Amino acid sequence: MERGLVFIVSGPAGTGKGTVVNRLREMMPELGVSVSATTRAPRPGEVDGENYHFISREQFEKLICSGGVLEYTEYCGNLYGTLRCEADRILDAGRDIILEIEVEGAINLKSLMKHDVVAIMLMAPDPIELERRLRARGTETDEVIQRRLHRASEEIALSEHYDYAVVNNTDRIDEAASEIAAIIKAEHRRISRMRPIIDRYTSVTVKY
Ligand code: 5GP
Repeated sequence: MERGLVFIVSGPAGTGKGTVVNRLREMMPELGVSVSATTRAPRPGEVDGENYHFISREQFEKLICSGGVLEYTEYCGNLYGTLRCEADRILDAGRDIILEIEVEGAINLKSLMKHDVVAIMLMAPDPIELERRLRARGTETDEVIQRRLHRASEEIALSEHYDYAVVNNTDRIDEAASEIAAIIKAEHRRISRMRPIIDRYTSVTVKY
């Protein structure tokens, strides 16, 4: 059986990543969900094993040493990582995975698994709209918003390491999710991935 592919979706805070990926999951229920591990504390309403595997820094460091994480990064003082066992279980069953991870982890994973990873950068249409979305949340101070905007420009600058960019226009969640779905389908139709079928033709001996 062909192993599944890893699709990464990254994007600055406020882009609407979570909402778009949830919509994509509704559109493509066959996509596998790999629950990441993190050392950050659960937020109200978050469930262990569902949103994240919430573990201690000591447990996380042990996982790193034993090769238990496929990629990881430190983000705002906490460790986040994709568990190798979770990802392998899904990919070995021939299913694709969608990972919502930050830029550094995405770039590491791409260099590690080159051919089987497709990275998509999700963006707000422009920085002004991104700032408006961050302010609309009403949960962050001015200083935090400025820091997030600065970080956003650094993250978008790294999109040259990505394969695709999708714009999440205001109130157009379905459109952004559909574009990602189209990318997933097209990636499976690359000639290199259609080899098994093509080889059935090229290995036939022509009789005249
Ligand atoms: P949050 O604390 O808001 O849930 O996540 C913070 C950041 O960590 C987000 O950009 C999220 O996409 C990223 N993240 C979540 N899980 C992983 C992971 O397994 N690996 C990496 N590299 N980043 C992750």
